[in-house]
Amino acid sequence: MRLILFGGPGVGKGTQAKILSEKLNIPHISTDDILRQAVKDKSEMGKKAGEIMNSGNLVPDDIMVCIIKERLSKPDSQNGFILDGFPRTEIQAVALDKLLEEMNINQFAVVNIYADDEELIKRLNCRRACKECGKIFSLEKIDGLDKCQNCGAENSFYLRDDDKEDVIRNRLKVFKSSTLPVLNYYQERGKVVSVNGIGNIEDVNNLILAEHRKLKKDHSFFLITALNACPSSSLMIRIFIFFTIA
Ligand code: AMP
Repeated sequence: MRLILFGGPGVGKGTQAKILSEKLNIPHISTDDILRQAVKDKSEMGKKAGEIMNSGNLVPDDIMVCIIKERLSKPDSQNGFILDGFPRTEIQAVALDKLLEEMNINQFAVVNIYADDEELIKRLNCRRACKECGKIFSLEKIDGLDKCQNCGAENSFYLRDDDKEDVIRNRLKVFKSSTLPVLNYYQERGKVVSVNGIGNIEDVNNLILAEHRKLKKDHSFFLITALNACPSSSLMIRIFIFFTIA
């Protein structure tokens, strides 16, 4: 199964993707992580992306499509993945469709995690990152701590430029103008399931897993129906149909 996590900045896509990746044993592909690594490595692409990210705007589509194309071609992506942060424009969604078609993948779902703006602004404002390892913490989790629980770095917590209030507002504006149309794109194709992102992390995760189970069940039913529709076909043809649809 391939899942695309969709939602506004701060809704919890990254947090949920990490947990799902462990539970479902498929890779978590985060464009934010890939871009931040490029910024850290000071690669040409990282230099271009860093400034754009700090302003809350979107990195150009051609760069993002190249990144995803390269990442999805890696062997660990062949049996499933969770996309976090991509696609974020209609151009990216069309490019992803083409890529999935080339990979013979037609089973995927978009999980729309929703929450209102006030909740998103509150969450982003309360985020702190570790300068050393980049891990994000909520302020209440690190209250009174001066050591990162992930890498052990001392006095390394800071407010990222893109989590500052004016940039947060721009990220929300960009989300509504450029990224929300992606949801319509997938809704028109019957690919979207929605879950309420307000609640504790585990509850939201259970909602997503419940949707995932339903999707798997529907798909198995579809698969069996397709195979039964051609009872006279040879074993080889039935195996071919199975792998084409699965
Ligand atoms: P995120 O933490 O997922 O909100 O991503 C942080 C920033 O990375 C965004 O504000 C964008 O500048 C950039 N970014 C991540 N994914 C994409 C994408 N698919 N398209 C364009 N820019 C992206």
